[in-house]
Amino acid sequence: MIPGPFDYHRPDSVADAIKLLAELGDEARPLAGGHSLIPMMKLRLATPDHLVDLAGIGALKGIVRDGDRIVIGAMITQHELLASETIASAVPILRETALLIADPQVRYRGTIGGNVANGDPGNDMPALMLTLGAEYTLEGPSGSRTVAASEFYQGAYFTAIEPGEILTSVSIPVLPAGHGYAYEKLKRKIGDYATAAAAVVLTMAGGKVATCSIGLTNLAETALLADDAAAAVIGTTLDDASLKKAAEAARAIMSPAGDGRGPPEYRKHVGGIMVERALKRAAAVAR
Ligand code: FAD
Repeated sequence: MIPGPFDYHRPDSVADAIKLLAELGDEARPLAGGHSLIPMMKLRLATPDHLVDLAGIGALKGIVRDGDRIVIGAMITQHELLASETIASAVPILRETALLIADPQVRYRGTIGGNVANGDPGNDMPALMLTLGAEYTLEGPSGSRTVAASEFYQGAYFTAIEPGEILTSVSIPVLPAGHGYAYEKLKRKIGDYATAAAAVVLTMAGGKVATCSIGLTNLAETALLADDAAAAVIGTTLDDASLKKAAEAARAIMSPAGDGRGPPEYRKHVGGIMVERALKRAAAVAR
């Protein structure tokens, strides 16, 4: 399929991009790596009259440590996340998750900003950002604001971004030394979106789970934070009964669609299994 006609704009600053989006109105969309937007345009599920390409804006690049947070520019690609020593040492689950996205060709173009701003429940980064307690910086005609990932996702492809705003960076708290982590993703084949996936970050003390956070991908209209599932394992040694409890608590908040990846019952079933596997692997990694 071929996209509908559109005008292409390439600003070189955030201010110019915001100005352009304000001038062009509802029919303009920011373009990042294009690996979600362009396929939608080819299917005519999106028909913007204007694309405002963010690729020329140097300020949207960079991965820096700012005190106890890691700040990642929106236009950092998944490939650049994989290559970053800072990410590998401070937020290793981000590296693990990026490696499970699609294939190298997609990862060379796809950006963290596009992945989290897209609002597709099948994207892997939103559930991880919920698990990590990430915050997003949005800039628009009314200035800059910070929105917690937990407040950002409102429905499939529906987020807290207001018209004319751009997501400029993602800020993640540095994880405690010795934490355990795992992103378990069931997919039909390499390069596919998740049938079900779970992110776990935890700490252990004296052989028991001290803190835990669990996120779920593609198991509802938005990424989910599975608070009750996490609470079910805190203070336990992750014995079988606690793992089962966590899986059931996670299943209770899942409402996946039935699609080519399976009917809802199947996806909930394997979603619980992803939670159990991620918990076990995270605990094995923790020191
Ligand atoms: P774009 O496609 O350019 O933009 C996506 C949307 O976000 C658009 O609506 C755009 O207007 C908006 N947007 C982009 N950047 C910003 C910003 N800074 N501020 C505000 N709005 C913005 N993803 C996964 O997570 N897991 C997978 O397994 C996976 N598999 C894939 C397989 C294939 C074959 C393909 C083609 C893609 C796959 N993807 C997958 C999607 C890929 O990761 C995309 O790159 C990502 O979803 C969107 O990032 P992007 O930079 O390409 O954004």
